[in-house]
Amino acid sequence: MHKDIATPLRTKEIMGKYGFSFKKSLGQNFLIDPNILRNITEFAGLSKDTAAIEIGPGIGALTEHLARTSGKVVAFEIDQRLIPILGDTLSPYDNVKIINEDVLEADVKAIIDEEFAGYEDIMVVANLPYYVTTPIILKLLMERLPIRGICVMLQKEVGARISAKPGTKEYGSLSIAIQYYTEAEMVMTVPKTVFMPQPNVDSAVIRLTKREKPPVDVIDEDFFFTVTRSSFAQRRKTILNNLTSQLPDGKEKKEYILEALSNSGVEPTRRGETLSIKEFGALSDALYPHFN
Ligand code: SAM
Repeated sequence: MHKDIATPLRTKEIMGKYGFSFKKSLGQNFLIDPNILRNITEFAGLSKDTAAIEIGPGIGALTEHLARTSGKVVAFEIDQRLIPILGDTLSPYDNVKIINEDVLEADVKAIIDEEFAGYEDIMVVANLPYYVTTPIILKLLMERLPIRGICVMLQKEVGARISAKPGTKEYGSLSIAIQYYTEAEMVMTVPKTVFMPQPNVDSAVIRLTKREKPPVDVIDEDFFFTVTRSSFAQRRKTILNNLTSQLPDGKEKKEYILEALSNSGVEPTRRGETLSIKEFGALSDALYPHFN
């Protein structure tokens, strides 16, 4: 077994050797605690039959744990300065491929087809750059990649919103967007001290397990998401007020909105945060004929 990259000493050593300095704008907070990395790979449920996709390998702290515990790793790193460093730190592993690309621009599906032939179990595992956590997760889910799930470190507050249940103050359109595709669990909270440099916020690991099918069957997914976003536009407003002010021509169509609320069994005085995904599904289907 090789010496772990993720220790304060080794990280400083590698940075010194290459004269590397952190770029805050790229969300560069590197992990310096091998125990946390072991926890992440355990929660991800990896084996040599798993192919892993990593976003933002940094200097390779998590990547080497993925290389040890899975069959193959493909990692997307946006910062070109890190590519030669990764070539060095990951040289003991022959099952890692680094791609120097912004993951948001990458054709991840094509790369899966190209790199992971023969793998039936594919997992995304990462310590995400916090400035783009939500766009990255939504991209990976909306592209309907053939993955089992996503197990990632992120800002604790975002993790709480993603995994929130109805009736809580964290529950909102982000919880619904992600829980529509996955079962979401916050599996671990993580102190600031395990990062270099330490971030200003607390962190957590969430595990998203892709659902076989969504929890509700809706006529039109885009419209369903429009309805959920509209319902949370102003959290303190009732669902009726949010829908009339947010949906196109909502004010003129108030009667239809009232009718749809009644047909789907939702009191107009309720707030968006009290509706389950199933209730939003029924409501969006009842509204659909009047807005399309
Ligand atoms: N995995 C390393 C670790 O745990 O120590 C580094 C994690 S650090 C929080 C986030 C990494 O994502 C950085 O290496 C950063 O350069 C990279 N990154 C930022 N934005 C990215 C993007 N859009 N696509 C790919 N990588 C990105």
